[in-house]
Amino acid sequence: MKPPDNHVHTRWSWDTASSSTMELACERARDLGLPGLAFTEHVDFTAWGDGDGGATAPADVGARPRVTPMNVQGYLADLARCRELYPELRLLSGIEAGEPHLFAGSVAAVLAAGEFERVLGSLHAVEHRGGLEYVDSSLLADVDPHDLMRRYLTDMVELVAGSSVFDVLAHCDYPRRYWPTDRAGEYSEADFEEEYRTVFRELASSGRALEIKHQEPAGIGGADALVVAGGR
Ligand SMILES: [Zn+2]
Repeated sequence: MKPPDNHVHTRWSWDTASSSTMELACERARDLGLPGLAFTEHVDFTAWGDGDGGATAPADVGARPRVTPMNVQGYLADLARCRELYPELRLLSGIEAGEPHLFAGSVAAVLAAGEFERVLGSLHAVEHRGGLEYVDSSLLADVDPHDLMRRYLTDMVELVAGSSVFDVLAHCDYPRRYWPTDRAGEYSEADFEEEYRTVFRELASSGRALEIKHQEPAGIGGADALVVAGGR
């Protein structure tokens, strides 16, 4: 039995093409023989809201021109339709909450707007020049990559300790996707072993699961093929 893909983005995520529908993801899952999917759409924010950690967080949320609020009603309607169309698939509702320890109030408002069965926690941004900046190639070009990776993993411990809203920690070493091999050499986990271990200890002590990326050549609906091993 293949594992389900528990981290799928569709057109309801701000970074995913409008042609990337839930139906297409379900068709693909059926073709691949997957037992189910979790539609964990991105929930990110561009400003501090009520109940957020803005006071202790960086002054600004850096430019996030494409981030838009999740359309919860549209998402849930799609999901209900897919559950009727694909009864053989186990389809979970969900979100991927970005920096949930900093946006606790804003995330809670989204979670209150619908029923979400799978909540991923993820860190895509760190403090840089007084603002919260996405970790991507342009940030990595501006800093020492090893320093940034250490800071990222340290912030990750704060995220895990500071938010209980999520069940599964997504992509625990996200910046490596943009690792500048030309400047920094090959990425080596061993360089950050202690930092990784600290994250995993914190996560395990709260009984939560780590997302494991399962390398399949073909992703689901354009998203990464990711599975969750263990956990609730
Ligand atoms: Zn993510």
